[in-house]
Amino acid sequence: MIQALRGMKDILPPESSLWGKLQGLASSVFSSFGYQLVITPIVEKTELFVRSVGEGTDVVSKEMYVFTDRGGESICLRPEGTASIMRAYLNDPEAKSRSLKAWYWGPMFRYERPQKGRYRQFHQFGVEAIGSNSPYIDAELIYMLDVFYKKLGINDVRVELNSIGCELCRPSYKDELVKYLKSNEDKLCNDCKNRINTNPLRVLDCKVENCSKIINGAPIIQDFLCAECNSHNDVVLAALNSCGVKYSKNPLLVRGLDYYSRTVFEFISDKLGGRQNALGGGGRYDDLSAQIGGQKIPSVGYAGGVERTVLFMPELDVKAVTVYVAALDQESLNSLAPIIYECKKLCIDKEVLFIDDDFKARDIKKHLSRADKLGARFALIVGTNELNSSSLVIKDLVEKKESKIDVKYNEVEFTAKLIVGRMLEEKNS
Ligand SMILES: [Zn+2]
Ligand SMILES: [Zn+2]
Repeated sequence: MIQALRGMKDILPPESSLWGKLQGLASSVFSSFGYQLVITPIVEKTELFVRSVGEGTDVVSKEMYVFTDRGGESICLRPEGTASIMRAYLNDPEAKSRSLKAWYWGPMFRYERPQKGRYRQFHQFGVEAIGSNSPYIDAELIYMLDVFYKKLGINDVRVELNSIGCELCRPSYKDELVKYLKSNEDKLCNDCKNRINTNPLRVLDCKVENCSKIINGAPIIQDFLCAECNSHNDVVLAALNSCGVKYSKNPLLVRGLDYYSRTVFEFISDKLGGRQNALGGGGRYDDLSAQIGGQKIPSVGYAGGVERTVLFMPELDVKAVTVYVAALDQESLNSLAPIIYECKKLCIDKEVLFIDDDFKARDIKKHLSRADKLGARFALIVGTNELNSSSLVIKDLVEKKESKIDVKYNEVEFTAKLIVGRMLEEKNS
């Protein structure tokens, strides 16, 4: 038997229905705020992520799925979505004359050791607002995500945010931070010792206990922000206050990737506790477009982990009426099958669900025992008697009642409408 690759996971029913709900709500909520679906290739030039995400990050230095293709070019499976969306925007001569609000959804890849809840192919949804430096875009994006999570049923969600300054004010902070970290180097973990030179802000993310102690005494970025960064941050916070988004300021929040500036934030749910409580993160990335060779285009975005989010979603409250189809012999099945197709067409978006129909004739006992196992609400029963008398039995499997309706087996649409009408009545009663 061929198995799935290590670190790769199939998403099957019933879990997949939560994925479907997340995708559907992403589409409706984000488009309501003016974000439009953008689909980019899963494979990109390796250089795109080396230049955007940054060589000093674990993502690029250790975790990328890199290949040489048959033409000798270094390509990779995308480890995240933002750089691809920005590349697509910069490549499109039409897009550049306007701003773009994009949302996306799809698989991402990181070649790391698989562990519980972390896969080599994982999935993210994301939103990117490209082309505006307005702090109201940052606040709207955070507000929109707050709405999104609550629509998913994750009601305890909260936001942590920080400003990490800009290319003008962050260098002097970095200098101070590096000075401080160097003076405490012997107490830091080995990863952090390396980070001092490659990506000193990342030290603030370290969860190793000894490092935490050092980090608590480190200089914080707030004391270094320039006037523009400060006023940008003030507007974001004021707007969030006005629309009632719950947030807390976290001066240690820096996010892992090199391209962020000013606003950075994470959505957190404490339901599972521990350190793996972030549902996703994002921030402003005004310098990303220049890093990959474009002009400077101010932008802000967010990416959420689908696997993680689904863990926090409540079970679906399925209100659909479920219907089991029971044809007792081949002739009955021949008459019934096209009627059932038509019923399904009429029931699109109506929450009447025909379940596990394998279109096989069986005796009534076998049918009813299958219907029972599936937890069906109704069974539609047709045998020789029903065919001959142009009728159909509807059995209510919960109330243990049955009734007969008159149908015309040679009129598919007419009969389907009768059946569906009856099911909708039952659903609404
Ligand atoms: Zn600044
Ligand atoms: Zn550390």
